[in-house]
Amino acid sequence: MPENKKRTMPTESKGKKVCIMCGNEKVGLQVKEDHVIGAMRWVKRNITKNPKNYRMVVCKEDFLAYKKKRDSYERKRIAYVIIGIIFMALLLSFASGRFLGAIVYGVGVIAFMYLLSLLSYIPAVEMPAVQEKGRGLNLLSKPR
Ligand SMILES: [Zn+2]
Repeated sequence: MPENKKRTMPTESKGKKVCIMCGNEKVGLQVKEDHVIGAMRWVKRNITKNPKNYRMVVCKEDFLAYKKKRDSYERKRIAYVIIGIIFMALLLSFASGRFLGAIVYGVGVIAFMYLLSLLSYIPAVEMPAVQEKGRGLNLLSKPR
């Protein structure tokens, strides 16, 4: 993976800003681009052919509600991955020699649990002053 790959989204920076909570055109904290947003944009551009060139923000009025949803999403994501890992550990302990099969199956379960957590995906926002907590979270969400 080339690490210094620059993002090239020339037209997007001047689009309008839409709040992801209320759907109105508003000023607010900008949503961080991550691999999930990137994937969604890719789908919009290449599959549904419906690129929406607006920037996603969270407006001030909705921030508390957003924060609640984001926190619950993060908890859910961790819980899902932990369930997957426990499941894999169980598989391994019952595998009796067929470890490779158990690992492949276990990784599949973890990936599936992670995808399930994305159904309620709430993106992060750029915090102006406070650094976002949770290096551990980033470890869990690393793309395979
Ligand atoms: Zn809003």
